[in-house]
Amino acid sequence: MLYNKGLLTQKAAAVMHELAVTESILEIALRHAREKNARRITGLYLVIGQWASIVDDSVQFYWDMISEGTIAQGASLHFRRVPVELACLDCGQNYQPSSEELVCPHCAGTRVQVRSGDELRLEAIDIE
Ligand SMILES: [Zn+2]
Repeated sequence: MLYNKGLLTQKAAAVMHELAVTESILEIALRHAREKNARRITGLYLVIGQWASIVDDSVQFYWDMISEGTIAQGASLHFRRVPVELACLDCGQNYQPSSEELVCPHCAGTRVQVRSGDELRLEAIDIE
């Protein structure tokens, strides 16, 4: 397994389309596989934030389509969802918000920053 933190880190904006996302994943995986002289890519490990507007099934669908004919054809996609974590700008605490309630549970502050949970990242790939 080839680990490379930050192979792909993108803010998954609402406008981001799964096809474009999948294309960048493929491109990055192929580049890293080439650097390692891999003959095949057999697995991809994706980390998707809960707030990222990405649907696993769509990524899988586009993956099957665009990976055809590449060394990554037939590779399995592994998805890992990570929870949203917010940082309160008033009291400095980090917390995981409940589904609809974003207010800081420590000080009821409303000025918050997203620390994680809106990202899409290619965490690792399996190569042969
Ligand atoms: Zn707070």
